[in-house]
Amino acid sequence: DPRFARSHNQALLELDRRHLIHPVTSFRGHERHGARILESGEGMWLTDIDGRRVIDAFAGLWCVNVGYGQESIVEVAAEQMRRLPYATGYFHFGSEPAIRLAHELTQLAPEGLGHVFFTLGGSDAVDSAVRYIVHYFNAIGKPEKKQFIALDWGYHGSSSTGAGLTALANFHRGFDLPRPWQHHIASPYPYRHPEGHDDAAVIASSVAALKAKVEEIGADKVAAFCCEPIQGSGGVIVPPKGWLKALRTACDELGILMLVDEVITGFGRTGPMFACEAEGVTPDFMTLAKGLTSGYAPMGAVMMANHVYDAIADAAPEALPIGHGFTYSGHPVSAAIALEVLRLYQEGGLLSNGERVGIRFAQHLERLRAHPLVGDTRGRGLLGAIELVSNKGTKAGFSADLDVGGRLSALTWEKGVIVRCFGNAVIGFAPALCCNDSEMDMIFERVEGALDALL
Ligand code: PLP
Repeated sequence: DPRFARSHNQALLELDRRHLIHPVTSFRGHERHGARILESGEGMWLTDIDGRRVIDAFAGLWCVNVGYGQESIVEVAAEQMRRLPYATGYFHFGSEPAIRLAHELTQLAPEGLGHVFFTLGGSDAVDSAVRYIVHYFNAIGKPEKKQFIALDWGYHGSSSTGAGLTALANFHRGFDLPRPWQHHIASPYPYRHPEGHDDAAVIASSVAALKAKVEEIGADKVAAFCCEPIQGSGGVIVPPKGWLKALRTACDELGILMLVDEVITGFGRTGPMFACEAEGVTPDFMTLAKGLTSGYAPMGAVMMANHVYDAIADAAPEALPIGHGFTYSGHPVSAAIALEVLRLYQEGGLLSNGERVGIRFAQHLERLRAHPLVGDTRGRGLLGAIELVSNKGTKAGFSADLDVGGRLSALTWEKGVIVRCFGNAVIGFAPALCCNDSEMDMIFERVEGALDALL
């Protein structure tokens, strides 16, 4: 009965307004506007409680890389829940899915990252990496090395530790815990860089900024440099090719560790399994989440270089535990799901489909450069963005009271496509790797329609 459905949906919206605190959402704004409540998904498509179908060009929150409705994942999860829904990794216990997943990740990651610690998502993966880095420098007798350097526009989660490395204002307004151990340098943001047309200059300025910051703090005090290979939540900022490699070399010269946060860029999002791979870089720590389970269950991971692992292992007395862990580290259901997701990327052909359709994605982005509102487009693989400006010549943005992000978010939803609209008038795209050509064309047709409506 449609009348019953309508009143049921109204009740749901009302309960949501009253009780549920949504992530990164204004409390009063949510009470006023309510949520768009989603009910089901299939491939690239989502259906809300009113039966409205939209194409999801953002893979949920850049995580559902395999697309919705993958039955084989459901089967694997149900089977694992039936057999053993939970096993701790504490006290020398373990479970087969977690062990097999750790092994598989070490086979896929850059050589030398031979050890894996599982978390529940990306924020606690970053936290765990930070704690292990601190532990490592204590282990090797350099306890004064406790300062961390990250990038402006970086996002590394919103737990107390990772949020500190995050450099986005929204995550610090009203959450001003002192962060004396965290420092930031300029982002390699070609569109907003004075020499952005010159890749070598952008790379050189990042290397120089890192060296200057380390000198300012004192080389004997800096533990690590932390970055995303492509900055996601900052507005899909794509550094020039060779940037990550140059920063790896600089970290080595400076005697600091490199933590590469591949929470978004991992698992085929930028083409290869990991973005590090394309640059031939092996970080000392790599953080993963999102595409690891493709959002079918929560899970993140920290990959640790062998030399770090060995140093910690050799220094810690065998009779004492290394005090870091979570109840759900290596959760067997999440691990079983991740193993099936990894199979879909490889044997299921999703990684290669992603690379193939990524070419069409790049062509659409390129074409949009001609649009009167578009100042810049950028991307790699199936991760991309368009940056809107009010004046292409001066690259001026829009005043905050115009709420371009909010209007675009409403307009794209009206047109039947989900993208991410960032405050700095950037539209982010991260379609699932299962996207086909006509779905890709449809995404851009609908986004263009929204842009025209904004004019
Ligand atoms: N690191 C990066 C690069 C991210 O993009 C995110 C989330 O978007 C995180 C960490 C935090 O992950 P989570 O939201 O799973 O805690």
